[in-house]
Amino acid sequence: MKPTIALVGRPNVGKSTLFNRLTKTRDALVADQPGLTRDRHYGHGKVGGKPYFVVDTGGFEPVVDEGIMMEMARQTLQAVDEADAIVFIVDGRVGITPQDKLIAQRLRQTERPVWVAVNKVEGMNRGVVTADFFELGLGDPVAISASHGEGVRELIGEVLDGFQVDTDDTEADHPKFAVIGRPNVGKSTLVNAVLGEERVIAFDQPGTTRDSVYIDFERNASHYTIIDTAGVRRRGKVNETIEKFSVIKTMQAVEDANVAVLVLDATQEVSDQDARLASFVLETGRALVVAVNKWEAASAEQRDRIKREISRKLAFLEFARFHYISALAGQGVGDLFKSIDAAYAAAMVKLPTPKLTRALQLAIERQQPPLSGRIRPKLRYAHQGGMNPPVIVIHGNALEQVPDSYWRYLEHCFIKTFKLQGTPLRVQYKRSD
Ligand code: GDP
Ligand code: GDP
Repeated sequence: MKPTIALVGRPNVGKSTLFNRLTKTRDALVADQPGLTRDRHYGHGKVGGKPYFVVDTGGFEPVVDEGIMMEMARQTLQAVDEADAIVFIVDGRVGITPQDKLIAQRLRQTERPVWVAVNKVEGMNRGVVTADFFELGLGDPVAISASHGEGVRELIGEVLDGFQVDTDDTEADHPKFAVIGRPNVGKSTLVNAVLGEERVIAFDQPGTTRDSVYIDFERNASHYTIIDTAGVRRRGKVNETIEKFSVIKTMQAVEDANVAVLVLDATQEVSDQDARLASFVLETGRALVVAVNKWEAASAEQRDRIKREISRKLAFLEFARFHYISALAGQGVGDLFKSIDAAYAAAMVKLPTPKLTRALQLAIERQQPPLSGRIRPKLRYAHQGGMNPPVIVIHGNALEQVPDSYWRYLEHCFIKTFKLQGTPLRVQYKRSD
């Protein structure tokens, strides 16, 4: 699994600067999707080939009340508890402040590993500035400059050293799907509809608060794993509502799945949180099926509204299939499985180079890449560069001159030719000089 690193610290120490540096988008085509919601607080990146999630706990502001009480934003505390490691950022130019001490006090209670990052130290004597911060009682402070990128890779490299990071374990030989969505959209009801109550309990799994529940099951003689992020049945019925919605848990589940099932509530508007979860799935490249739930309870106006909002706010999910279901009545669940199967097959597709190259040639015959000045970019052949999501790598000359619109055209051709519905597809290029 990818470790999750939470960035904490009082305002203005450089959390968002560090966050931006740690989550530089590598995939321009994805970044350009119209309508894509960029969540400033959750992202992912890689250092030395090791992937991680990073959470900017922007809202983290300890409040000093009557001199002693400290209250942290609930979300921040949740992030601290759910993260695998904490980077506590302090300002090397300002020195220790009372707020830093309060935060340190809370962080000393966590069982997670904590690193103190002394930021803004470009051009300063590192030994001298960091020495001040030993006093926080959280081990050896590390000097960084988030804005100049100094010491950042080393710091994150050190953080990640403590974890066994496996690069990719999504390549299960069967669909492994995560049921995700904001609270109350009907995730647990859907999981129950899929599995039936008793069998879920039989697969009860202990875990920390963060863990989703993994359940293996068979349906029509096919093997599936469902990742239940609602996880309400963990302790049987007594504590059914104990589980809280957690973005970190959802991110981990999506990452670990090969198909995400995003549940929306037809009786509600498409919220920012829905769009954010959808964006996140797209960024990870996971196959996706959308279940618009509570359809039987939605009025005609509500049905119109959600369809309108889906085409406006979730336009970037055009690759996914949408289902209008009622988890409560068990309606539409069978069809949902057809799409899960199809999305899984598309995500895991194996495309031999000759077939891909043939599809590329046909696409070019129908429409040539536009001239760039007097140069016509030459697309020679294509090979598959990865799975889940499928990556198609085009080889040729002057490919950097090919406009995005043409790459999108090719993407659509490949989707059609190979029936890749349900998964994002990445088309990249390589120069063959
Ligand atoms: P946040 O409130 O903790 O998210 O802090 P920001 O990332 O918004 O940064 C606060 C201010 O510190 C901004 O003006 C940044 O440009 C500045 N800053 C961040 N990192 C560095 C750094 O490494 N060196 C210097 N000199 N300034 C920095
Ligand atoms: P979760 O928080 O996403 O796991 O949502 P739950 O499965 O706990 O459902 C939240 C509420 O919505 C419960 O009261 C469910 O009975 C109700 N609910 C779930 N699915 C449906 C549905 O298809 N139709 C209707 N009318 N209500 C539903």
